[in-house]
Amino acid sequence: MPAPKTQEKSFRENVNLAFDLALATLDVPEKLGYYIKCGNNVYQVRFPVKINGEVESFIGWRAVHSEHRLPAKGGIRFAPMVSQDEVEALAALMTYKCALVNVPFGGSKGGLVIDPRKYDEEAMERITRRFAFELIKKDYISPAINVPAPDMGTGAREMAWIASTYSAHKPADIDRMACVTGKPVSQGGIRGRTEATGRGVVFGLREFFRHPEDAKLANLQGTLEGKKIIIQGLGNVGYHTAKILQEEDGSKIVGIIEYDGALYDPKGLDVEKVSQFKQNQGGVKGFKGPKYIKEGALLLEEPCDILIPAAMEGVINLDNVQRIKAKLIAEAANGPVTFDAELILRKKGIVIIPDIYLNAGGVVVSYFEWIKNLSHIRFGRMTRRWEESQNEMLIEAIESKGHKISERLANKLRKGSGELDLVRSGLDDTMREAFQKMREYYWRHDQADSYRIAAMAIAIKLIAASYEEQGVYP
Ligand code: GLU
Repeated sequence: MPAPKTQEKSFRENVNLAFDLALATLDVPEKLGYYIKCGNNVYQVRFPVKINGEVESFIGWRAVHSEHRLPAKGGIRFAPMVSQDEVEALAALMTYKCALVNVPFGGSKGGLVIDPRKYDEEAMERITRRFAFELIKKDYISPAINVPAPDMGTGAREMAWIASTYSAHKPADIDRMACVTGKPVSQGGIRGRTEATGRGVVFGLREFFRHPEDAKLANLQGTLEGKKIIIQGLGNVGYHTAKILQEEDGSKIVGIIEYDGALYDPKGLDVEKVSQFKQNQGGVKGFKGPKYIKEGALLLEEPCDILIPAAMEGVINLDNVQRIKAKLIAEAANGPVTFDAELILRKKGIVIIPDIYLNAGGVVVSYFEWIKNLSHIRFGRMTRRWEESQNEMLIEAIESKGHKISERLANKLRKGSGELDLVRSGLDDTMREAFQKMREYYWRHDQADSYRIAAMAIAIKLIAASYEEQGVYP
């Protein structure tokens, strides 16, 4: 993915400018607002790992933005361009995200400067374990204090290594599995976590279209069916978002942008086929059928109903904002639209559903995983058969009165809820409720003239209240 030519302000500054606008709509003491904005601490670590007989040194960070709730929560990113500024900005977004969707965590984020494609699995394991150990030593990984998760360049594999490293160092901690989320299901993970951010994006979009007056803001109406969508990034978040939109909502994915170019077909692309091709070939170049655009980012500028940046920050910026023609921008990535670009988009009447709301599905399901690990039992384990027998009795009672229930309905009714059903239901409920809070604030407060400012204001208000109630001394 090409980096923006003009990153007009640093990522952290972009987040803070939005914070300032949101704070101005609130009655929160200025100095408390300043404290919340700044973030609490950041740990920088440099460590050596021997690879092919040579010592290589790595640098990484774990930033803690807010500890008004513990543990602080947020992913660990493995990427060549990670910086302290980026990690601090992402940690701040985690604080606001968790507050908005009512997940009782503070905000944190980690990053390691590395290109994971350059190392084999064995080297990656050693590097990840060493980084994890450095963080464990300083309590930057612990079930009670700081709980990482996957982010760009990391996934279930890395989380399993982190959990194993923590367990090796703290075997007596009975809650050790809760030290990290996004683990494989066989290692204490939860069903539905991998798809969670993407599914959350879809739940958020569905809720947006359930409010015709909101859809009208973007000159849209109806449902997601048939909507023309361009998506940037077919990684974990982009893939699941696009696949669910195509298969469950009947949306048309007309464009897919990847780091080696973009594919465009006004009739719609087959997300699964493109993803399979990308997995085998390492990119989308050479995929037969749709139009191939070498400079993929140009496709961001194509007219469409919904543009979904699902890759990285700063991709819609002062360089390209004037040419953006989407009606709605759905921020599946963190920080894809810069502050200055957003001011221009607003004038153009383009609506943005902001990251801190729309991509919160990942941390919501991480919260469920953390609870599962602390309770040491899978959701639904004690209730599923009970529900099934109760529902069976209900069917029998209705049918004994001469009403025949169709086989399809009876089968649906018969089914007790398993872990995946409960996770999806909890995620859907959370995303709907948070959207409703955000839109209400937006429609009620003239100064909150975007969903982002409304979402941030709700978050800041909650965090400020939490500090004020607790007092600021230990
Ligand atoms: N990295 C994800 C995010 O940016 C998930 C964080 C988590 O699950 O803690 O929201």
